[in-house]
Amino acid sequence: MTKKVALWLLNDLRLHDHPALHAALQVRPTELLFVYVWGPPSVRWGKYSFPPEWPLSLSRLSSPRQRFLLQALLELSQRVHLVLLEGEPQEVIPPWMAQEGISALYAIREWAPEEVRYQNAVSQVLQREGKSLFLYEGNALYEREQLPFAVEALPQVFTRFRQLVERSSSVKMPLESPPSLPSFPSEESQKWLRHRLSDLPPPHAQAFPFEGGEQKGKEWLQRYFAGPLFTYKQTRNGFMGSTFSSHLSPWLAVGCLSPRWVYAQLRAAERREGANDSTYWLFFELLWREYFRWLMVRWRGKMFAAGGIRGYQLPWKQEERLLEAWIEGKTGYPIVDAAMRELGATGWTSNRARQIVASFLTKNLFLDWRWGAAYFETQLIDYDVYSNWGNWLYQAGVGTDGRGFRWFDPVRQAKLYDPEGHFIRQWVPELRGVSAPRVYMPDPGYREGLGYPTPVVDWRASLAYAKDTYWRTVQGAPKGNQLLRLFQDEET
Ligand SMILES: Cc1cc2nc3c(=O)[nH]c(=O)nc-3n(C[C@H](O)[C@H](O)[C@H](O)COP(=O)(O)OP(=O)(O)OC[C@H]3O[C@@H](n4cnc5c(N)ncnc54)[C@H](O)[C@@H]3O)c2cc1C
Repeated sequence: MTKKVALWLLNDLRLHDHPALHAALQVRPTELLFVYVWGPPSVRWGKYSFPPEWPLSLSRLSSPRQRFLLQALLELSQRVHLVLLEGEPQEVIPPWMAQEGISALYAIREWAPEEVRYQNAVSQVLQREGKSLFLYEGNALYEREQLPFAVEALPQVFTRFRQLVERSSSVKMPLESPPSLPSFPSEESQKWLRHRLSDLPPPHAQAFPFEGGEQKGKEWLQRYFAGPLFTYKQTRNGFMGSTFSSHLSPWLAVGCLSPRWVYAQLRAAERREGANDSTYWLFFELLWREYFRWLMVRWRGKMFAAGGIRGYQLPWKQEERLLEAWIEGKTGYPIVDAAMRELGATGWTSNRARQIVASFLTKNLFLDWRWGAAYFETQLIDYDVYSNWGNWLYQAGVGTDGRGFRWFDPVRQAKLYDPEGHFIRQWVPELRGVSAPRVYMPDPGYREGLGYPTPVVDWRASLAYAKDTYWRTVQGAPKGNQLLRLFQDEET
């Protein structure tokens, strides 16, 4: 008797460490089809999406984001029977299953509100037809039941979370890829994916050569873990080059690599070469990724509210002119502009750069932080709903950060992390002939001749306004020298 089942892919474009795939194989199907919906919640806005309330019209997926995703799907379609459907998942998956005679659907459980709505919607339609959607946890280091606390009691600060899980939880070994599958490559989907890929503009010449796919991700990890990993702690705040940080985020975000598999490789590298503070630090960063996932399980919709999980009613500005200057990299602050232009051109920028531009948007432009998060969502090839919105909440001072008001001085950051000004000159051609230290913040008269914009805001005055407003909202008016002390409290 034939038994056809299907796996609905979302952010899990791999065969290794895939609990839903394993579960599907347990029923010994005669055929296993993989299905990806080219629509919401990843590719387009849809019925259950929360499109950003902002003045711009941007598609949900930048070209770099789209390219990485298409490559990952293409690689998969060469190994399994991948079917691509276009439309709303709850409208296209059930009829397709009926037509194909598929009896059950398997998927990795998502936790973010939009993704949950779509999984529920599909499940409800299937239930009416006497079929089921079976969901399994995946894409995280720990399963919910492995956490040493109930999610409702998730620690309010990351450090506490890290200490508790380090002490009490261990990461399970990743599941192996199945040795064989009742599935076969799908030429039709390959054609469709290749066609879409050929329609995209070529990647930017200066971009890190990210290429979607499980194999590509594994190859890159092996290269990084063979050497650069062991100096990660010293180099991780860099801006330029391919090995200052692991660059694993895009493969983790679309699920070409599972975090448990990355963790197992990390431990193997430590056994081979010896553990050090850099190998620990990579784990530490993976725990940040983990924390934001559980934070979303805990706080759900509040992660997307202007007041965040703290509920602070800050009078965020909604000025289009400032948003456009930030997006286009024309704020007049060279390090901010370099990072935003890199992001716009390549779909990626470093963690330090992300922190600086997020601080600038929330602490100097005082723009609604959700505008920044939504822009990142459309651009980043490593966009991950949990990490993106979690980090933005944190930067905006409305998340779980114990310090609340974090800020960066863009000139000092440039001096510290781009001391020769190479990164600025690479992305801001107007400043190509300008050397350090002038390139960190060219004088007003000088920049005019170069065609480089004048600053959109006065950095010091705008920061003072933001601090003052923040503290008035949060704790009442500042007293004594509180404001002065905060000025000395920059991030390092
Ligand atoms: C405003 C803002 C938005 C961000 N949006 C995203 C996003 O959409 N997707 C995303 O994956 N990361 C996001 N990050 C976190 C971080 O910037 C990237 O994970 C990191 O830059 C990716 O580069 P890497 O793989 O070389 O990281 P590495 O420094 O090599 O770190 C290894 C891995 O740890 C995880 N990680 C590292 N730092 C963080 C962090 N702060 N938060 C969560 N996970 C982390 C990532 O999975 C990363 O691949 C954001 C950070 C900020 C400040």
